[in-house]
Amino acid sequence: MLPALFADFVSLIFPRTCLACIEPLGRGEDHICTACRAQLPYTDYHKLPEKDNPLARRFWGKVPVRHALSYLRFLRHGRVQHLLHELKYQGQQDVGRVLGRWYGTELATAGLAPDFDLIVPVPLHRRKLAKRGFNQSDSFAEGLSLGLEVPWSAHALRRTEHTDSQTRKNRTERWLNVATVFEVAKPAAIIGQRVLLVDDVLTTGATLEACAAVLLAAGCREVSIATIACADR
Ligand SMILES: [Zn+2]
Repeated sequence: MLPALFADFVSLIFPRTCLACIEPLGRGEDHICTACRAQLPYTDYHKLPEKDNPLARRFWGKVPVRHALSYLRFLRHGRVQHLLHELKYQGQQDVGRVLGRWYGTELATAGLAPDFDLIVPVPLHRRKLAKRGFNQSDSFAEGLSLGLEVPWSAHALRRTEHTDSQTRKNRTERWLNVATVFEVAKPAAIIGQRVLLVDDVLTTGATLEACAAVLLAAGCREVSIATIACADR
């Protein structure tokens, strides 16, 4: 009884709030409230055949992608944007871990886990990593790793150049901005492997495309991608 009472006492002083809607969390709710969990805009792309998966189609003719997956649809001014903001700018890495674990479990239930040998997050440049203190894609990779029971590595890929923000660039500019900035840091770790490449948000897909191309060129067997959210074009 005492631990539960103590937890209630602590939450009276420091009320835990939902990371998506900022409402207080109920007992047993884990970072995201039940209402939000029920109402998040899930893509369910893993349930679609490839030809009907709009995310998969965006990579056609650019780079071969085995599974193109995104947990949520990115909608401005809603819960998803709030979650991503908490993750990236408020240091709430639990957002990545919780969503990664939920999604990983769902993908495992759908039978996808045997298609992945290694989970690799899109890396930040070391200077940005030092400034922010964490890579927002790492926590998502870590959560996915738990849910899928597939190992992850933060050091397989490296970002060699510090690039400008992608935010105000169009598709071609974004591609040119990232096309040559990634390299495989540990070729032995990825040769012959089926890699699940992960990032927080997919907008044009240029970053994931650049990473996938580098991984495949270095000898990885196939690449799948998964993001927390993807924006419509
Ligand atoms: Zn909520």
